[in-house]
Amino acid sequence: MPEDTPLAPGLYLVATPIGNLGDITLRALDVLRQADRIACEDTRQTQKLLNHFEITTPTVSCHEHNERHRATELIEAIKAGGRVAVVSDAGMPGISDPGSVLAAEAIAAGVPVIPIPGANAALSALIASGLPTAEFVFLGFLPEKAGARRTRIEELAAQPRAAAQTLIFYEAPHRILETLSDIESVWGPALHAVAARELTKLHEEFLRGPVADIRKNLAARDRIRGEFVLLIEAPVGAPGPEGTWEGSAPARESISTRVARLQAEGLDEMDALKRLARELGQSKSELYRELQRERAKRK
Ligand code: SAM
Repeated sequence: MPEDTPLAPGLYLVATPIGNLGDITLRALDVLRQADRIACEDTRQTQKLLNHFEITTPTVSCHEHNERHRATELIEAIKAGGRVAVVSDAGMPGISDPGSVLAAEAIAAGVPVIPIPGANAALSALIASGLPTAEFVFLGFLPEKAGARRTRIEELAAQPRAAAQTLIFYEAPHRILETLSDIESVWGPALHAVAARELTKLHEEFLRGPVADIRKNLAARDRIRGEFVLLIEAPVGAPGPEGTWEGSAPARESISTRVARLQAEGLDEMDALKRLARELGQSKSELYRELQRERAKRK
C-alpha cells in the first residue's frame, strides 16, 4: 500500500513492536498516520511510540474494562466513514491483550476489519525455539493462583497426543520458577523446554533443554528480569495410570516418597520439607502444597 493511498473506512488491528522499535512495519506506520483515531490499551504507552515516529493521530483508551462500551462508539464512527486503528501495549492486539471483543463486534456490525501484521512474542519465540512447529498450541497466561495453575497443567498433560506438540505460554518473571516447577512435577524433569526472555531486546536470551535445567539456571540468578515466553514439547502418547510420564520423560520422585525417606532418617515433616526445598530450589510452601495434593490423590 503506497503511503499516498487513502485509507478506506474500517477497523485496523495494528501490531506494534515487542521491544525493538525497528520491528514496526511500514504499513503499520502508514495506518497509524492516516487513521482518524487510535484506540490504545494504554494511551501513555502508545504515545511514546507515536512520539518516536512523529505521528500526531489522536488516541483514545480501549482496555479490558471499557472495550465493550468503546466498541459501540468506535463502530458508529467507522459506519460514518471513520478509520480506526487499534493497538495494544506491545505485539498483536487481541493476543493476551484487548482487541478481540472490538473485532468481533465490528464483524457483527458489518464493518470491515483489517489485520496489520507484525511482531508477536509467541511466534517469535516458537520459530527460534528449535521445538516442533508443525503443531503448536498457544495457551496465553496460566492461572495466577497456584492451585488453579497446577490443575491446568495437569489437564494439559492428561491430554493424549498423536504427534509431538509445542505448547506456548506467556509468563511473568515473578512466576516463572513456580510454573517451571509445576511443569517439572507433572511431566518430569527431562521434558524438553525453552524459555525465551527479552525477545528482540538487547538482552534477548533463549534457555533450551530439560525443564529442570532451565529452572535451576534461573533459580541461581540474583534476580529474574524481563518477560518470558515458555515453550514445552508435549510428548506423544498418554500419561500412565498414575498420571505420570515415566515413558517419554522420567517423572520426578514424589515429594511424599522423599519426605518419608527423610522422616525415616529422623527428621520431622517440616524439617524434611525445608531440606527438600533447598535441594530442589523450590519454596517450602510450594512443596507442602505438592505434598498435600499427592496425599489427596491417594485418598
Ligand atoms: N500482544 C502481545 C503479543 O502479541 O505477543 C502479548 C501481550 S501479553 C499482555 C504480554 C506477555 O507477552 C508478557 O508477559 C510475555 O509473556 C510476552 N512477551 C511480550 N513481549 C515479550 C518479549 N519481548 N520477550 C518475551 N516475552 C514477551
